[in-house]
Amino acid sequence: MYARRLETLPREALRAHQWQRVRALAAEALASNAFLRRQWSPAGVCSAEDLQTWDDFARLPFTSKAEFVEDQAAHPFFGTNLTYPLERYVRVHQTSGTSGTPLRWLETQESWDWWAHCWGFVLRGAGVTAADRVFFPFSFGLFIGFWAGFEGARALGALAIPGGGQDSPTRLAWMETLGATVLVCTPSYALHLVEVARERGLDLLKLPVRLTIHAGEPGAGIPSVRARIEEAWGVRAFDHAGMTEIGAYGYECVEQTGLHINESEFIAEVIDPTSGAPAPEGELVLTNLGRVGSPAVRYRTGDRVRLDDRRCPCGRTFVRLAGGILGRLDDMLIVRGVNVFPSAIEEVVRRFPGVDEFQIEVFRREELDEVRVLLDAPQGVDVPAVQEAFRLGLGIRIEVAAAPPRSLPRYELKARRVVRQTT
Ligand SMILES: [Zn+2]
Repeated sequence: MYARRLETLPREALRAHQWQRVRALAAEALASNAFLRRQWSPAGVCSAEDLQTWDDFARLPFTSKAEFVEDQAAHPFFGTNLTYPLERYVRVHQTSGTSGTPLRWLETQESWDWWAHCWGFVLRGAGVTAADRVFFPFSFGLFIGFWAGFEGARALGALAIPGGGQDSPTRLAWMETLGATVLVCTPSYALHLVEVARERGLDLLKLPVRLTIHAGEPGAGIPSVRARIEEAWGVRAFDHAGMTEIGAYGYECVEQTGLHINESEFIAEVIDPTSGAPAPEGELVLTNLGRVGSPAVRYRTGDRVRLDDRRCPCGRTFVRLAGGILGRLDDMLIVRGVNVFPSAIEEVVRRFPGVDEFQIEVFRREELDEVRVLLDAPQGVDVPAVQEAFRLGLGIRIEVAAAPPRSLPRYELKARRVVRQTT
């Protein structure tokens, strides 16, 4: 483990640890952070002294992405969620903008070190050691993506290899030449590299890669996607979850029984997205405890999760998200009255080895969502069999069609496979 004492703290001690961190955050940030003051003062919390119990914490309002976006629009360019004067900040990143206006986020030296610390849990959880060579096929631009993972690998003493600015065949060649043992990328990109290797006649099983870590999409938590990555690369594939606004909060241990939430650095709540009341399954709400320069408190992630608070065989006392992130709440489709996440569609599609890529077309037909799944399968696929798998797996009939080979887009970062037809 990366931090055995913290990762195995008895629950009561863990809660006490969190409480002390919440109080410290409030004491440091509340005096100078205008965003936090505006958020918290209606709840009667104007200083750390006003936080006496967890009930006081539960009175703090939730924060939504829209509030951060509006704040930055009203106070360009960085908004008011700043605890320190601008000169204290050393890095800027912004969200990918897949769901609306990009958000900018500033880091202090301390918060950037904190990101690397959080990635220590992720990397060690998967079994990465100082002897590993960790490859990051990532563009290293404004999007935070795997920047922090790179810092985390370096901080751990591993060899961190930047794989930016190159096409996929070159990246594969680098991995071979430099002897990469760990690959960190989105699940979609790991599968795309499988395709590229096949086209070039390169046997991935001959590469020294022994494990992969994936984020940016639910993929590695979807059994058929994980199985496919593991088989093609000859690795164990690990899931990880993080967000620009929050940090790197979720990781898998070698037991792979769901995503542990790093509760030494984050407070996790799960709520009914409509009522806001605590629920075993619903929207994940997170508070980060180590990013004092620009914190996020009770932040509504928009991710649907199922909480599992049973003790993990690995010995960690941190709670888990069963099956990882189940999907984005705003990505949920309602097909003839049945709620379907794109991840459930992917779970079915990825069972068919012939399919390299797919797309989910959504269109309205008489006020109802209708879905058509396009399959890009250069080696061929049994379309009726996929249709039957949907019927058995999801309980609904979904139209399936073959797309021309290699016609659908491939993805290095977050895949956008759901296409809404407007007509
Ligand atoms: Zn575990």
